[in-house]
Amino acid sequence: MTAPDRPSVGGRPAFVGLGANLGDAAGTLRDTLVQLDRLPQTRLRAASSLYRTAPVEADGPDYVNAVAWLDTGLSASELLAGLQGLEQDAGRLRSYRNAPRTLDLDLLLYGDEVSEDPLLTLPHPRMHLRAFVLVPLAELCADLYVPGRGALRDLLHQLEPQPISRLA
Ligand code: ADP
Ligand code: MG
Repeated sequence: MTAPDRPSVGGRPAFVGLGANLGDAAGTLRDTLVQLDRLPQTRLRAASSLYRTAPVEADGPDYVNAVAWLDTGLSASELLAGLQGLEQDAGRLRSYRNAPRTLDLDLLLYGDEVSEDPLLTLPHPRMHLRAFVLVPLAELCADLYVPGRGALRDLLHQLEPQPISRLA
């Protein structure tokens, strides 16, 4: 029997990109993976390794990135609202007094849904250009097809070179 606080989700697959570059970025991402599994009607099915990547089109510290594979009974917009709530929570978390923390959560894919809505564009409009998305995504699901963009394997081959390394 399913525990009342852990209902079966029977939902859709969704992939979420996680990124942080301030404070204990790796710690923030690990905490966030736990929180993703606690979203209503949502289970963390798999998480990629953590990766260190150079900022794209920005200065500042390196990023730590990862991708999470969720199964969710939430709609895409409900899930995005949940992700935005976690971003806000992470802004308030402190590993030590006044430590900065940032967290960016992007909904990369929600099943094979396609949306042009600027508030929720699916697939995520820049995911096919970003090594810090495609490399961890391929770790989770190498055979994935990105609607409107093509096979993940082909997208990886077409990438401009971008520094990315797996964290130990
Ligand atoms: P970025 O992640 O591109 O660096 P932000 O996280 O600040 O920038 O962008 C957030 C905005 O992007 C929000 O207003 C959100 O509604 C919108 N948005 C559109 N599509 C998506 C998506 N697939 N995932 C996350 N946010 C999205
Ligand atoms: Mg974002």
